Amino acid sequence: MSTSDRRWSVLAAEAALRIAALYPEQMNIYADRGNIAVLSRRCQWRSLDVSVTSIGLGEPLDGSRFNLIYLGGGQDDDQRRCAADLIETKRDGLLAAAANGAVLLGVCGGYQLLGHWYELGEERIDGVGLLDVETTRSDGPRLIGNVAIETSLPGGPAGATLAGFENHGGRTRLLAGAEPFGRVIRGHGNDGRSGDEGCRSGNVIGTYLHGPLLPANSWFADWLITTALGAATPLVPLDDDLELEAHRAACRAAGLSG
Ligand code: GLN
Repeated sequence: MSTSDRRWSVLAAEAALRIAALYPEQMNIYADRGNIAVLSRRCQWRSLDVSVTSIGLGEPLDGSRFNLIYLGGGQDDDQRRCAADLIETKRDGLLAAAANGAVLLGVCGGYQLLGHWYELGEERIDGVGLLDVETTRSDGPRLIGNVAIETSLPGGPAGATLAGFENHGGRTRLLAGAEPFGRVIRGHGNDGRSGDEGCRSGNVIGTYLHGPLLPANSWFADWLITTALGAATPLVPLDDDLELEAHRAACRAAGLSG
């Protein structure tokens, strides 16, 4: 075994991705559980220790146990039920995890719930307020279709492309000082007008990209894993021919040459 292989096996033995999947039954529109599968498999292929804990309605979240927390998208009804539960049983855990530097990824409805609120007419569904965004359900059409965005993440490739699919009635507004996750190249993004997509505050990320997101954007899956483990853990490259083809296909679907 070479020195670098030995170093790698030591790091692999120490690093452990501890994933909390919140509300996998309710917040899983478009089979967003595929995102969790991608994260797990990419760790397993590298002999990295990985665990996935599903945490449902009524179950508390111990934020100190996880370095990656995932909250997917859902229909308004499911979102409503989960929002109340999120505040009651998981908000403190989420805040603690974010303060510890854990990665929090919210997709669509999950993104909206990481913000301050999701307003539907007279009704206001409170979120946890980790992202400085507000979402309002407008009378306009749902924002649906293939989408491509450009994003630059710390330690990640500059101006990298993510491709996916969006379907949301809510329009999300970034409050002053909030940073978008990316810029829309094709599609609608946060509100169909601003050119902003999603929001990022440190390791807390919200995005409207389904697809599910990670099977078609393996570079981003690896960025999430690296960030959750701490950038000191180098990831060995994988044979990503199929993943890159999936990425190109998603880019083409969004109208890019891919
Ligand atoms: N219910 C939310 C909306 O329509 C989120 C939908 C979703 O998660 N795809 O805006």
